[in-house]
Amino acid sequence: MYDIHQIRADFPILERTVYGKPLVYLDNGATTQKPRCVVEAITNEYYNTNANVHRGVHFLSQQATELHEASRETVRRFIGARSTNEIVFTRGTTESINLLAATFCPSQMQAGDEVIVSVMEHHSNIVPWQLQAMQRGIVLRVIPMDDQGNLLTDEYERLFSPRTKLVSIAHVSNVLGTVNPVREMIATAHAHGVPVLVDGAQSIPHMPVDVQALDADFYVFSGHKVYGPTGVGVLYGKEAWLDKLPPYQGGGEMIQHVSFEKTTFNELPFKFEAGTPDYIGTTGLAKALDYVSALGMDNIAAYEHGLTAYALQRLGEIPGMRIFGEAKERGGVISFLVGNIHHFDMGTLLDRLGIAVRTGHHCAQPLMTRLGIEGTVRASFGLYNTREEVDALVAGIERVRKMF
Ligand code: PMP
Repeated sequence: MYDIHQIRADFPILERTVYGKPLVYLDNGATTQKPRCVVEAITNEYYNTNANVHRGVHFLSQQATELHEASRETVRRFIGARSTNEIVFTRGTTESINLLAATFCPSQMQAGDEVIVSVMEHHSNIVPWQLQAMQRGIVLRVIPMDDQGNLLTDEYERLFSPRTKLVSIAHVSNVLGTVNPVREMIATAHAHGVPVLVDGAQSIPHMPVDVQALDADFYVFSGHKVYGPTGVGVLYGKEAWLDKLPPYQGGGEMIQHVSFEKTTFNELPFKFEAGTPDYIGTTGLAKALDYVSALGMDNIAAYEHGLTAYALQRLGEIPGMRIFGEAKERGGVISFLVGNIHHFDMGTLLDRLGIAVRTGHHCAQPLMTRLGIEGTVRASFGLYNTREEVDALVAGIERVRKMF
């Protein structure tokens, strides 16, 4: 049973008001709220177990290390990875992609080699490759989409050339909500002998993900979007690939032995984890993954699917409503504009009613260009949102519409 009242009670912030109105938090694509158990796990570690990991012989350091490495195992299980060697902790999706770009391109690519991305990528899956393009002359190829927000798979196939070295695509679009057919797209890339990085920032919080079933070579996500703390994220990579890549940053923890003549590097996953890791953050992340696992990712997906269908139907009834993203497979992200009301005005006025939505280009300016707009209003759902909140959004939009 998905008991929404009990679930909401786990998230203290949902009880607060803004401008004297009950908070309607519909900006989960940007970040999610935290259940009490996550905050308590973090507090508890600071109060009782805090010590640097992997270093001390003393009791606390060993306990903190055990917690940290148990969190790695929790992540491994959550995404179905083969080994904890394949789980690298990072600051988030952005750092995970930058890590990969900065290690894959110099070691696996020559000037003129190509990376395929899609037109609906977040800037964090565009700019790291462009930085490499500037430094090394690698070339970006872009998968186009149709007007409904489906990637054109025929065009995708045609982009492959002997120079294609990597495909890097979002699992779920943070603007359109499109769930891309990554399993099939990975199979296509593998048929060309090309590995695939999947940006799972918007999928991990909303659906079961099994990296082995997808056969993803790399999969990345952020803790804060899956009800965990900020500042911690994950890069999953197949061990064979991670073994081939050079270290990312240099420092403590990533080395085996250092001398001024020759330094050797630590084994996986530590080779990629220079410096003191956010071991408190990893505890919080593991707690968040335990929390959503206990609810059941299938249950969360089904609940949010119903909520999104309801929202699409209700929003669709509003005169002048334009919804961007009508893919058949879509998640709980709804981007829209109403008449000629500027997205910023809509967002600001909704805010005064206690409704938190995102406005702007959503870090996807090439997609905005493709859509011929500057920005949208975006409502994005989490596991605790309700139909009453959708009704509040609809009533709010109607009120703003009448003002204009
Ligand atoms: N990719 C996608 C699809 C996203 O939605 C986001 C966050 N908006 C990111 C990457 C970047 O995530 P973070 O800021 O947590 O690194």
